[in-house]
Amino acid sequence: MLIGIDDTDSPAGMCTTYIGALLVKCLGEAGCTVREARLIRLNPNVPYKTRGNAAVCIVADGDAEYAFQAACDLVDAYADLACDTTNPGVVVVSKPPDSAFYYRALRDFCEIDEAVRLCKAAGARFRGWKNGRGLIGAFAAVASDLPDTTSEYLAYRSAECTGVRDVDPASIFAAEEATYPHTWDSVDRENGVVVCVPHTPDPVLFGIRGESPAWVTVAAGMIRSEPPVLTQVYRTNQGTDAHIVPGRAGALAEGCSYRLQGTVAALPVTRRGGHISLILEDAGVRVRCMAYEPTKGFRDLIRSLIPGDRILVQGSWKGGSINLEKVRIDAIAPETVTRPPLCPAGHGRMTSAGAGKGYKCRRCSLRSPYPDVTDLPRKLVPGWYEVPPIARRHLAMPLVRKRLFSN
Ligand code: ATP
Repeated sequence: MLIGIDDTDSPAGMCTTYIGALLVKCLGEAGCTVREARLIRLNPNVPYKTRGNAAVCIVADGDAEYAFQAACDLVDAYADLACDTTNPGVVVVSKPPDSAFYYRALRDFCEIDEAVRLCKAAGARFRGWKNGRGLIGAFAAVASDLPDTTSEYLAYRSAECTGVRDVDPASIFAAEEATYPHTWDSVDRENGVVVCVPHTPDPVLFGIRGESPAWVTVAAGMIRSEPPVLTQVYRTNQGTDAHIVPGRAGALAEGCSYRLQGTVAALPVTRRGGHISLILEDAGVRVRCMAYEPTKGFRDLIRSLIPGDRILVQGSWKGGSINLEKVRIDAIAPETVTRPPLCPAGHGRMTSAGAGKGYKCRRCSLRSPYPDVTDLPRKLVPGWYEVPPIARRHLAMPLVRKRLFSN
């Protein structure tokens, strides 16, 4: 059976992955065999999300009615039902449904009615609390298809704790140092900050992301912290770029995430707050791309682009621009400076002789029809560039993984 759960938390606390971890424990204690715990990230642009739009799916063998009741009891006990925007959903199916709904929930927007209809059609045990919106994520989680996956080790403190977490930052830097590139994004080395310890009032103590359960467990074992009350390794679509689809300028839908290629059409502009705006042209249609201030050093790369550079961009189309997650530089345009030519008689630079009349030396009257055009060296190197770990979206594939793939 597959048990999906979503929408149990609120800005004031809780986390659906914590309820998933409690359910794994509870099923194990009841004699069920838990085959897999999945942490499924869905469309990062849905307005209803609390934080990272996560749902969980537990794959297990055992009594489906027991599992359904256990999941519902955990939601009743732990979900922040007092919060207006917390609308949990629990779905239990005996076999994986068609993955089409998962892909739509990952890449597009879904309706509650559709999720209810699909639950009924799949013969699922299901329950929605309040408006039942969590059924969307819960059904998408049981329908999830994971052609590429990574792992996350989550350590939890007790659900009542909401204060500062006691986790030694030096041990996190050391764990990343020892296990990178097999784990990633525990810290942001360039910006000198810890990324894997949340600051929100939820039960997550820290989370380690990496290529396999073994690697994330090794890294987690190196971290000095207050003792976790619970731990869980999830298999996840995080770090896979699963939310990205090919896009075309002029045919982008609000809240969807794309990869598209084009030519830089104008020099990047730095806006108030340090946000960088870049205009890309694809088949005569212009698209604005944004590198926001939190992307820190990535903005230097965007600032160094000039008209004519060929690039491929990835990111979400929101409010009339692509919010850049990563960029591939495909071809670098020559950068030149054009100046009046030097006078051959050694009188320094000529000056313009008037519109369309070439250049003239003001001392000896020698003329030249042509300007002096010099190529400037460009430091830019073709290849992929990404936002730093502090600004990374859960679903975005870090480049340390991308080297495994040809695109
Ligand atoms: P956490 O991950 O910390 O548990 P969250 O950020 O995942 O919180 P939720 O509280 O789960 O946020 O809220 C997301 C809500 O949006 C859920 O009700 C989920 O069912 C719904 N949802 C997820 N994906 C889509 C989608 N593509 N279209 C419409 N609704 C969606």
